[in-house]
Amino acid sequence: MTARTIDGNALAARVREDIAARAEELAARGEQPCLAVILVGSDPASAVYVRNKVAACEKAGVFDYPADADPQVVMDRLAELNGDTSVHGILVQLPLPPQFDESEVLEAISVEKDVDGFHAESVGRLSQGQQGFIPCTPHGVMKMFESENVPLSGAEAVVIGRSNIVGKPMAMLLTNAGATVTVCHSRTRDLTFHTKRADILVAAVGKPRFVTGDMIKPGAVVIDVGINRLTEGEEAGKLCGDVDFASASEVASLITPVPGGVGPMTITMLLENTVISAERAANRKGR
Ligand code: NDP
Repeated sequence: MTARTIDGNALAARVREDIAARAEELAARGEQPCLAVILVGSDPASAVYVRNKVAACEKAGVFDYPADADPQVVMDRLAELNGDTSVHGILVQLPLPPQFDESEVLEAISVEKDVDGFHAESVGRLSQGQQGFIPCTPHGVMKMFESENVPLSGAEAVVIGRSNIVGKPMAMLLTNAGATVTVCHSRTRDLTFHTKRADILVAAVGKPRFVTGDMIKPGAVVIDVGINRLTEGEEAGKLCGDVDFASASEVASLITPVPGGVGPMTITMLLENTVISAERAANRKGR
């Protein structure tokens, strides 16, 4: 079997058309969607990622602080952004330098503007199936399932990774959609036992080409969240996922590539969350 590839760029472009139309409608009502990004420290990977996020937004502000920034200065900025009614989304790029308490910072973001969905209340809302912001990467994966009509109810889903950003919210979304979900991580005994029985396999491990074809059930849907930069050999400098695409696509029925898979969907969902927040703000203001 050779798997069909899900084109994340094409899907993201389609979703962005809808977002652009909604943003235009909002602008006509006097509410231009606006995202504020806080970046602390000069991690080049974060800087590139933030640039991509900001480039995708029509109206955005980046607040850039040095790695030794005083946490209070950032907290004061957050308070200011929370109170600014022209700002609809606030995002703090993680990881933060060690002098910061990450959860304290994330919880200082107004839940109404928590477009990354990392605030404890947003996480609670997701776990209870209530309306709130859903973390962008797993939300983008759900859009992929939807666009490909992947049946989730009753499916065996295995998520490799239990991070707050990807693994856990992914597992929650799949659970809410009726899948039977197993979450694997570095302490899992016999990972292949689990992956082999997955109708849907999501890899969010952070290890290049970690999942190979022999770990996959024939016909499975394989979602590769990983973004790894290869450092050695002929391919040094290239990006690759957590899945070994060549061997996995011999076994799976549907698969996402890296790059061009989940990555473009993540930024798109951030834009969608910002537009949703702006729509709610416009409605609150009676515009
Ligand atoms: P984390 O490092 O926070 O989490 C990795 C998870 O993988 C952990 O739960 C860890 O287990 C588990 N793990 C590590 N080694 C093994 C192993 N040998 N067997 C089974 N499980 C293992 O990473 P993130 O969740 O933040 O990101 C995962 C990947 O996704 C990265 O490549 C990242 O770059 C990428 N990413 C991509 C995005 C996109 O837009 N496409 C967005 C965000 C991330 P344990 O908890 O026990 O340590």
